[in-house]
Amino acid sequence: MNIQFSFDDNHVLNMRVADLLEQYGFRATFFINIVPLTTHSGMTTKQIKLLCLRGHEIGAHTVNHVQLPLHQRGRRHHELRRGKSRLEKIIGSEVTGFSYPKGQYTDEIKIETEAAGYKYARATGEGNINPAVDVFAVIPTVQIYNSPLRRYLRIKRNLLEGTKFSLTGDWKKSCMKYIGKNEGIVHIWGHSWEIEKQGLWTEFEDLLKWIRNFNIEKIESED
Ligand SMILES: [Zn+2]
Repeated sequence: MNIQFSFDDNHVLNMRVADLLEQYGFRATFFINIVPLTTHSGMTTKQIKLLCLRGHEIGAHTVNHVQLPLHQRGRRHHELRRGKSRLEKIIGSEVTGFSYPKGQYTDEIKIETEAAGYKYARATGEGNINPAVDVFAVIPTVQIYNSPLRRYLRIKRNLLEGTKFSLTGDWKKSCMKYIGKNEGIVHIWGHSWEIEKQGLWTEFEDLLKWIRNFNIEKIESED
Protein backbone atom coordinates (compact mmCIF):
# COMPACT_ATOMS: atom_id res chain seq x y z
CA MET A 1 0.00 0.00 0.00
CA ASN A 2 1.13 3.47 -0.86
CA ILE A 3 0.03 6.54 1.13
CA GLN A 4 0.31 9.93 -0.56
CA PHE A 5 -0.46 13.45 0.58
CA SER A 6 -1.10 16.57 -1.45
CA PHE A 7 -2.10 20.11 -0.53
CA ASP A 8 -3.39 22.86 -2.77
CA ASP A 9 -2.95 26.64 -2.65
CA ASN A 10 -0.31 29.16 -1.76
CA HIS A 11 -0.87 29.58 1.97
CA VAL A 12 1.66 30.09 4.75
CA LEU A 13 -0.02 27.34 6.80
CA ASN A 14 1.52 24.84 4.36
CA MET A 15 4.60 25.22 6.55
CA ARG A 16 2.64 23.90 9.54
CA VAL A 17 1.39 20.97 7.46
CA ALA A 18 4.96 20.20 6.40
CA ASP A 19 6.23 20.37 9.99
CA LEU A 20 3.62 17.85 11.11
CA LEU A 21 4.16 15.50 8.19
CA GLU A 22 7.90 15.49 8.71
CA GLN A 23 7.49 14.81 12.42
CA TYR A 24 5.93 11.46 11.46
CA GLY A 25 8.23 10.75 8.55
CA PHE A 26 5.97 11.79 5.67
CA ARG A 27 6.34 14.13 2.71
CA ALA A 28 3.70 15.70 0.49
CA THR A 29 3.20 17.46 -2.79
CA PHE A 30 2.28 21.12 -2.44
CA PHE A 31 0.50 22.58 -5.47
CA ILE A 32 1.17 26.29 -5.32
CA ASN A 33 -0.42 29.15 -7.24
CA ILE A 34 2.08 32.00 -7.71
CA VAL A 35 -0.29 34.78 -6.65
CA PRO A 36 -2.08 33.89 -3.41
CA LEU A 37 -5.84 34.39 -3.17
CA THR A 38 -6.65 37.78 -1.67
CA THR A 39 -8.01 36.14 1.48
CA HIS A 40 -4.88 34.01 1.95
CA SER A 41 -1.55 34.78 3.60
CA GLY A 42 0.88 33.61 0.96
CA MET A 43 4.20 31.89 1.36
CA THR A 44 7.49 33.66 0.72
CA THR A 45 9.67 32.35 -2.10
CA LYS A 46 12.12 31.29 0.60
CA GLN A 47 9.46 29.11 2.23
CA ILE A 48 8.55 27.49 -1.09
CA LYS A 49 12.18 26.68 -1.71
CA LEU A 50 12.54 25.38 1.83
CA LEU A 51 9.66 22.92 1.35
CA CYS A 52 11.46 21.59 -1.68
CA LEU A 53 14.76 21.30 0.19
CA ARG A 54 12.98 19.43 2.97
CA GLY A 55 11.96 16.73 0.52
CA HIS A 56 8.45 17.79 -0.49
CA GLU A 57 7.40 17.96 -4.10
CA ILE A 58 6.41 21.37 -5.40
CA GLY A 59 3.67 21.27 -8.03
CA ALA A 60 1.95 24.07 -9.91
CA HIS A 61 -1.59 25.39 -9.48
CA THR A 62 -1.58 28.20 -12.12
CA VAL A 63 -0.39 31.77 -11.57
CA ASN A 64 -3.65 33.32 -10.38
CA HIS A 65 -5.68 30.30 -9.23
CA VAL A 66 -7.98 30.61 -12.22
CA GLN A 67 -10.71 28.14 -13.11
CA LEU A 68 -9.23 27.12 -16.44
CA PRO A 69 -12.44 26.24 -18.34
CA LEU A 70 -13.67 29.81 -17.84
CA HIS A 71 -10.78 31.27 -19.84
CA GLN A 72 -9.66 31.47 -23.46
CA ARG A 73 -6.81 29.39 -24.73
CA GLY A 74 -4.25 32.23 -24.59
CA ARG A 75 -4.89 32.89 -20.94
CA ARG A 76 -4.84 29.18 -20.11
CA HIS A 77 -1.54 28.87 -21.92
CA HIS A 78 -0.09 31.67 -19.80
CA GLU A 79 -1.46 30.30 -16.52
CA LEU A 80 -0.17 26.78 -17.19
CA ARG A 81 3.28 27.75 -18.47
CA ARG A 82 4.08 30.73 -16.31
CA GLY A 83 2.78 28.95 -13.20
CA LYS A 84 5.38 26.27 -13.93
CA SER A 85 8.36 28.42 -14.93
CA ARG A 86 7.98 30.80 -11.99
CA LEU A 87 8.07 27.91 -9.51
CA GLU A 88 11.03 26.34 -11.31
CA LYS A 89 12.92 29.58 -10.91
CA ILE A 90 12.14 29.60 -7.19
CA ILE A 91 13.08 25.99 -6.43
CA GLY A 92 15.80 25.59 -9.05
CA SER A 93 14.48 22.32 -10.41
CA GLU A 94 11.80 21.01 -12.73
CA VAL A 95 8.11 21.14 -11.78
CA THR A 96 6.26 18.16 -13.28
CA GLY A 97 3.01 18.07 -11.28
CA PHE A 98 -0.08 20.22 -11.62
CA SER A 99 -3.43 20.41 -9.88
CA TYR A 100 -6.45 22.02 -11.51
CA PRO A 101 -7.80 24.97 -9.49
CA LYS A 102 -11.23 23.95 -8.14
CA GLY A 103 -10.64 20.62 -9.86
CA GLN A 104 -11.89 22.06 -13.14
CA TYR A 105 -10.69 20.81 -16.50
CA THR A 106 -11.85 19.62 -19.88
CA ASP A 107 -10.35 17.16 -22.36
CA GLU A 108 -8.80 20.11 -24.17
CA ILE A 109 -7.27 21.44 -20.96
CA LYS A 110 -5.75 18.06 -20.19
CA ILE A 111 -3.99 18.14 -23.57
CA GLU A 112 -2.81 21.71 -22.95
CA THR A 113 -1.49 20.71 -19.52
CA GLU A 114 0.58 17.95 -21.03
CA ALA A 115 1.79 20.29 -23.80
CA ALA A 116 2.91 22.78 -21.14
CA GLY A 117 5.41 20.18 -19.93
CA TYR A 118 3.67 18.57 -16.98
CA LYS A 119 3.86 14.82 -16.42
CA TYR A 120 0.62 14.49 -14.45
CA ALA A 121 -2.29 16.49 -13.04
CA ARG A 122 -4.29 15.88 -9.92
CA ALA A 123 -8.02 16.46 -10.02
CA THR A 124 -10.26 16.74 -6.96
CA GLY A 125 -12.83 14.27 -5.71
CA GLU A 126 -12.60 11.26 -3.45
CA GLY A 127 -12.96 7.52 -3.39
CA ASN A 128 -10.22 6.30 -5.71
CA ILE A 129 -7.49 3.87 -4.63
CA ASN A 130 -6.53 2.58 -8.06
CA PRO A 131 -3.50 3.75 -10.04
CA ALA A 132 -4.58 6.56 -12.36
CA VAL A 133 -5.93 5.38 -15.69
CA ASP A 134 -5.45 8.93 -16.95
CA VAL A 135 -2.41 10.66 -15.43
CA PHE A 136 -3.91 14.05 -16.36
CA ALA A 137 -6.94 13.36 -14.15
CA VAL A 138 -5.56 11.72 -11.02
CA ILE A 139 -8.46 11.23 -8.61
CA PRO A 140 -7.47 11.16 -4.92
CA THR A 141 -8.97 9.13 -2.06
CA VAL A 142 -10.04 11.39 0.80
CA GLN A 143 -10.16 15.16 1.28
CA ILE A 144 -9.32 16.57 4.70
CA TYR A 145 -12.51 18.35 5.65
CA ASN A 146 -15.76 17.57 7.38
CA SER A 147 -18.84 18.47 5.43
CA PRO A 148 -21.45 15.71 5.57
CA LEU A 149 -23.49 17.21 2.74
CA ARG A 150 -20.57 17.64 0.33
CA ARG A 151 -19.32 14.16 1.12
CA TYR A 152 -22.78 12.64 0.74
CA LEU A 153 -23.07 14.15 -2.73
CA ARG A 154 -19.65 12.82 -3.64
CA ILE A 155 -20.44 9.34 -2.40
CA LYS A 156 -23.64 9.41 -4.40
CA ARG A 157 -21.78 10.49 -7.52
CA ASN A 158 -19.04 7.92 -6.95
CA LEU A 159 -21.62 5.19 -6.58
CA LEU A 160 -23.21 6.22 -9.81
CA GLU A 161 -19.82 6.11 -11.48
CA GLY A 162 -19.16 2.70 -9.99
CA THR A 163 -16.11 3.82 -7.99
CA LYS A 164 -15.02 1.61 -5.15
CA PHE A 165 -15.80 3.59 -2.03
CA SER A 166 -15.79 3.40 1.70
CA LEU A 167 -16.24 7.02 2.68
CA THR A 168 -18.01 7.99 5.84
CA GLY A 169 -19.04 11.53 6.74
CA ASP A 170 -15.87 11.79 8.79
CA TRP A 171 -12.67 12.36 6.81
CA LYS A 172 -10.36 10.76 9.36
CA LYS A 173 -12.46 7.63 9.68
CA SER A 174 -12.56 7.39 5.89
CA CYS A 175 -8.76 7.52 5.76
CA MET A 176 -8.44 4.84 8.43
CA LYS A 177 -10.91 2.62 6.66
CA TYR A 178 -9.03 2.85 3.37
CA ILE A 179 -5.61 2.43 4.96
CA GLY A 180 -6.90 -0.48 7.02
CA LYS A 181 -7.65 -2.36 3.81
CA ASN A 182 -3.96 -2.17 3.06
CA GLU A 183 -4.25 -2.10 -0.70
CA GLY A 184 -3.88 0.33 -3.58
CA ILE A 185 -2.92 3.99 -3.29
CA VAL A 186 -4.48 6.06 -0.52
CA HIS A 187 -4.11 9.67 -1.60
CA ILE A 188 -5.10 12.11 1.14
CA TRP A 189 -5.41 15.71 0.02
CA GLY A 190 -6.62 19.04 1.30
CA HIS A 191 -5.89 22.69 2.00
CA SER A 192 -3.86 23.90 4.97
CA TRP A 193 -6.23 26.87 5.37
CA GLU A 194 -9.18 24.50 5.52
CA ILE A 195 -7.56 22.43 8.27
CA GLU A 196 -7.29 25.72 10.17
CA LYS A 197 -10.81 26.84 9.29
CA GLN A 198 -12.36 23.57 10.40
CA GLY A 199 -10.11 23.18 13.43
CA LEU A 200 -8.69 19.85 12.25
CA TRP A 201 -5.02 20.14 13.28
CA THR A 202 -5.35 17.65 16.13
CA GLU A 203 -7.28 15.18 13.99
CA PHE A 204 -4.66 15.55 11.27
CA GLU A 205 -1.84 14.83 13.69
CA ASP A 206 -3.75 11.91 15.22
CA LEU A 207 -4.14 10.40 11.78
CA LEU A 208 -0.41 10.72 11.03
CA LYS A 209 0.37 9.06 14.35
CA TRP A 210 -2.09 6.28 13.59
CA ILE A 211 -0.62 5.68 10.12
CA ARG A 212 2.88 5.50 11.49
CA ASN A 213 1.85 2.97 14.13
CA PHE A 214 -0.22 1.04 11.60
CA ASN A 215 2.77 0.79 9.28
CA ILE A 216 5.04 -0.38 12.07
CA GLU A 217 2.55 -3.07 13.09
CA LYS A 218 2.21 -4.22 9.51
CA ILE A 219 5.95 -4.53 9.05
CA GLU A 220 6.30 -6.47 12.30
CA SER A 221 3.54 -8.90 11.43
CA GLU A 222 5.14 -9.61 8.06
CA ASP A 223 8.38 -10.82 9.71
ZN1 LIG B 1 -6.81 25.70 -5.13
